Amino acid sequence: MTSINQNYLELQGSYLFSEIAKRRTAFMSEHPNAEIISLGIGDVTRGLPEAVLKAMHGAVDELAAPGTFRGYGPEQGYDFLIQAIIENDYKARGIDIASNEVFVSDGSKCDVGNIQEIFSEDSVVAVQDPVYPVYVDTNVMAGRSGRFNPETKRYDNIVYLECTAENQFKPALPGRKVDLIYLCYPNNPTGMTLTKEELKAWVDYAKANNCLILFDSAYEAFIQEKDVPHSIYEIEGAKEVAIEFRSFSKTAGFTGVRCAYTVVPRELKGYDAAGSAVLINDLWNRRHTTKFNGVSYVTQRGAAAIYSPEGREQIASLVQYYMSNAAVIRDGLASLGLEVFGGVNAPYIWLKTPQGMDSWTFFDKLLSEANIVGTPGVGFGQSGQGYFRLTAFGSRENTEKAVERIRKLSL
Ligand code: PLP
Repeated sequence: MTSINQNYLELQGSYLFSEIAKRRTAFMSEHPNAEIISLGIGDVTRGLPEAVLKAMHGAVDELAAPGTFRGYGPEQGYDFLIQAIIENDYKARGIDIASNEVFVSDGSKCDVGNIQEIFSEDSVVAVQDPVYPVYVDTNVMAGRSGRFNPETKRYDNIVYLECTAENQFKPALPGRKVDLIYLCYPNNPTGMTLTKEELKAWVDYAKANNCLILFDSAYEAFIQEKDVPHSIYEIEGAKEVAIEFRSFSKTAGFTGVRCAYTVVPRELKGYDAAGSAVLINDLWNRRHTTKFNGVSYVTQRGAAAIYSPEGREQIASLVQYYMSNAAVIRDGLASLGLEVFGGVNAPYIWLKTPQGMDSWTFFDKLLSEANIVGTPGVGFGQSGQGYFRLTAFGSRENTEKAVERIRKLSL
């Protein structure tokens, strides 16, 4: 008999974006001439920067020649990329990271999803609510979530840290003992950030309570304001309590190319059943090298080119492009009297739905009356009910058009 992993049966419904796609398809089959503008899924629309393209073409040529051909590379990543990451993302900010603390991968989704594997099954997990759904679902698959409660629409054993307008989307510290805390800043979906002082409170809490922070900063490149930390390791002592995830996806148009990295400091300790300390870095290294065979050489050459002088300039202008879209949406909607959040240090605008509409009602209204696809906030968790996410990743033309269409709605 083939027995399945029963935990999978606790997963709730289909993934948010498949429901959005279903409603969009249904609408389009009834209105085939509608010109839909998508500001829903967080995928980029601009091509790869020139410096990246050039580096990737060069790498392809190298692979064709006998003397420079490469087969399997180091699972943790090539040293040229790891050194570029350490120099530019950390040393330049006064942070010391060693090369054996960086693990290059094919995406942060895999990393934030896989990391839970190295922790015990009875670890108590805390997530922000609303939340990037991967954190919750991967813990459900691993059997850490407990039962889904259809009344609260939450899992019994997951601790939800509510983020709403009332707390400026800055969650309170957990009210009960937790072991793993997922924090995402700049945040998807709310687009909000923490100041250094606010992030320090989390690091101090983790140290005092012996827990680990899983810090997802996939949107770090979009930070514009000075007091917003780019890395959790800017906070003293964070290397003892935090793993950091970064992605090139949104930074450099790598959503389809696939490259990211995770920093697991050697200072981080977990404990075995006998109470002896174990280095988390050793466990992740074992997991990564056993289950992953490295990112392609061509991709890593492309990623390293992001850190070249031309690459940096090109990335900065990409980020500027998207952040100007964010300002168009933010200012446009605010001028209509809508309550808007985010969009200053992140490519997401989080808005309070007008007239107390629920998230899906607003989704249907926007789709049917303005032919715009966004993302219902409730799809990210119960605290997202009554909110809605728009992304700044569209073209300028479509972004402006979308705001004009919303302006004409009666809200
Ligand atoms: N983390 C967050 C918060 C995200 O929003 C996303 C993608 O949308 C990811 C991770 C995944 O990024 P990647 O493309 O590197 O898998």
